[in-house]
This record gives sequence, C-alpha cells and structure tokens, in this order.
Amino acid sequence: MAIYPPEPFRIKMVEPIKRTDRQTREAALKRAGYNVFGLRAEEIFIDLLTDSGTGAMSQHQWSAMMEGDESYAGANSYFRLAEAMDEIFSFRFFVPTHQGRAAENILCAVMLGKEQYVPSNMHFDTTEGNIRARGGRPTNLVIEEAFDPKNRHPFKGNMDICKLRAFIEQVGGEKIPFGMITITNNAGGGQPVSMENLKAVAAVYKEFNIPFFIDACRFAENAYFIKLREPGYEHKSTLEIARETFALADGATMSAKKDAIVNIGGFLAMNDKELFQNVKNELILREGFPTYGGLAGRDLDAMATGLREGLNEDYLAYRLGQTAYLGERLLEVGIPIVEPPGGHAIYIDAGSLLSHIPQSEFPGQALSIQLYLEGGIRGVELGSVAFAYPDPDTGEMIHPRMELVRLALPRRVYTQAHLDYIVGTLERIMARKDEIRGVRITYAPELLRHFTAQFEPL
Ligand SMILES: *Cc1c(COP(=O)(O)O)cnc(C)c1O
Repeated sequence: MAIYPPEPFRIKMVEPIKRTDRQTREAALKRAGYNVFGLRAEEIFIDLLTDSGTGAMSQHQWSAMMEGDESYAGANSYFRLAEAMDEIFSFRFFVPTHQGRAAENILCAVMLGKEQYVPSNMHFDTTEGNIRARGGRPTNLVIEEAFDPKNRHPFKGNMDICKLRAFIEQVGGEKIPFGMITITNNAGGGQPVSMENLKAVAAVYKEFNIPFFIDACRFAENAYFIKLREPGYEHKSTLEIARETFALADGATMSAKKDAIVNIGGFLAMNDKELFQNVKNELILREGFPTYGGLAGRDLDAMATGLREGLNEDYLAYRLGQTAYLGERLLEVGIPIVEPPGGHAIYIDAGSLLSHIPQSEFPGQALSIQLYLEGGIRGVELGSVAFAYPDPDTGEMIHPRMELVRLALPRRVYTQAHLDYIVGTLERIMARKDEIRGVRITYAPELLRHFTAQFEPL
C-alpha cells in the first residue's frame, strides 16, 4: 500500500472550492472549446493544471512581503534576493524576471541566431517556443529510457551523452550558441538528472566551448532526488547539492513559480560580464530595471524566502512523498503512468490507457476532457496537442513519442483525501474507457498551441 507522508505544516487559512454537477461541467467545457485552459477556475474542483505559481506561501513568505521595498532602483528587496541567489546559485550576475519564459526570451534575444541549435535533455514548451520564435532549433537528447513509461531508471531525466557528442559533431559547435539541461525534466515526466550526468554534460559543452545554461525550475526537487538516489550524496544537504550543481554551469534560467514557491517571479543568471551587459539592456527594454525585472519589491522578498524554503528537507520529503503516493495509488488500480513517479507531477500514459485513439486524434486531450467531465479535475495534455509540429524541412507532422496527461501538484495545497478522490475519478473513467473518442482541432495558433487551441469531439 502506498504511504502518505504527514504534512510538515498545519493549515491556518483556507480557500473554499466546490463541486459542480455534470451538466454544468458539460456546458462549461463546450463553451471553452473543449480546452480546459478556457475554463473558469470556479468551475473546477481540483486544479492540477500546473504547479506553477499555484503553491501556498508560508507565513514567513507573507511576512517577508510586508517588508518589500518598492524603490525603483536599488531596493533592499533586490539585495535580499541577491543574498539568497549567492548562497544557492553563486553565479556572478543575475537579473530578476517576471517569470521563467521572460528569462528564456532574453537569453534567446541576446545569444541565439537563426538556424542555430540549442540541445537539452528535453526543452519545456515555453523554452522550445522561445527558441523557435527566434528561428532557432531546439533539440532533445534525453536517454532512451525516458521514452519507456515502465522503465524505473532512477534518473530518467539524464541527457544521452553519446547522442549529445554526436549531435555537436554533426551540426558543429559554432552553430550552438548555448546548450541546456532541464532539472527536473518537466516535459519528460518530472524526472531527475543525476550529478554524474550533469558533470558529464558540463564536460562535453566545455570541450566544444558551448556555454552551459541550466533550466533550474525544479532544482530543489532534483537535489533531493540526488540525495535519495545517488551514491555518495546521502549525507550531503540539498543546499550543498544545489551549489555543486550550479558550479558546473555558466548560467541558469528559472521560473521561481516552481521551487521558490511564489505566485510570480523568475530569474536569468550568468557568469559572463559582457553577456550580463547585453541582458541588462534587453531587460530594460522588455521587463524593467535590472534590480526589479518586472516584479514588485515584495515579490523579490517572497522569492528570496521561498528559494531557501524550497530546499528544506522536511518539506522536500513531504513534497516528493505526496507525488509518489498519488502515483503508486494509481498504479495499484491499474492506471498506466510514467514510472517512477516524478517530483512535481504524475504523468498518465494516455497513449496506452486510450490505445484505441490514434495520435492524430489526441488521446491525451480526450483524457483531459474526461477528467473534467467525470470529476471536475483539471489536468493538462502534454502530447501531440502540446508538442507535435510540422518538420521545418518537409512540413510533415512530427508527433512526440508519448501521449501524456500531466497531473501537477501545487505545493502545500491539496490533502490526501483530494488525492484519493482523483484516484477514484480515474478508476471510473478507466471502467468505460472503450467508449471514449478522440478530438479534432478546429483552431490552433502556430506556437504553444495547447494554451488556446479549440477542439470538437469526434
Ligand atoms: C514553468 C517552466 C518554464 C517556464 O516558466 P514560466 O514561469 O511558466 O514562464 C520553463 N521551463 C520549465 C522546465 C518549466 O517547468
């Protein structure tokens, strides 16, 4: 039996949520064009759309916000954030940004040219979108095990070092302005990357003189996975592991809405002084002055406090334990998921659960619709709706290798009873899965289409 870890906090403020009837949900979904992004939050009972910016801040974070310094330039809040940044990441320079994709946009604006490549284990959708928007080519080089949902490799987010080397040799290092790795690998199941792999990736990039940037959204969860699973790290603190991680890189992008447990925020950090100059100029144009980067002073304080809290090991044991509980309970009732459970989310293998629906009819989208209709639960499709794209050379649709539905767990928000309700809902869906049909796209933008696409049931 799966074990639920007792929460290392108690609840002092509550936010009411309510259940709706099926008829109301049917009407809401139709109005939203069968895309759960178009629903109103009050139409949802349990919202697992994302763990981004949806966490519950602590009393320490709320009180830090009261001390926010709203000076336009050189605010105290900025220096408090800079202290936390130095403690954890130790890059020479950083700028705050309003969220992760703003950091990605600025990095791409100043470093990436047309027809240039950016390798990673797997880029997240916004990173991929920002690279493509500048005419670049994002390339995913994760290990093969990542594509086998049943494979319980402890570090399924690892980069395939042979593929990386072969790729660089094939396209040429001069066509790669920077290389990345995403920790944990959100697009591939929230799976961690080992320190051994991070070191090997850093060494390859260095050999070819390619600056190495880490997409650090879930660096704390990744550090705790390393502590739990990698020999030699069991006695190191998550802070020590994080410091060792970032010492390998030339810079990082981060959405603080993830492991810094804030509702808004992010950063772009780097060691290169000239790059920092260019970044600041671009930031001033797009986001704001370099000591606030599109955020209020109070947001910087919440982030400084949250970055440290996110590394707390009692919190991380609960966090990863809660996700594992949901995953193991789903496996107990026969729902296929990406194994082992990731850090921030459970990824249902919709391609295998609804194997009668072809990729061109979006089995993940069909499942996300059923989750809402059956239980008022909102998850997100991460399959062909999110990731299929036309080959730039041939125009032919390239489908991703897995059709997933992500159930992301907001930090410190839902309880065991909520998770058991999710399991019960999926059990009922599974019992009548053969009746479930796919969908057809009626509208889709060119980039990041899952946010606004519209559908019709088949
Ligand atoms: C959320 C996320 C981003 C983008 O961050 P936003 O704050 O949503 O703009 C980038 N990479 C990864 C891995 C993410 O999870």
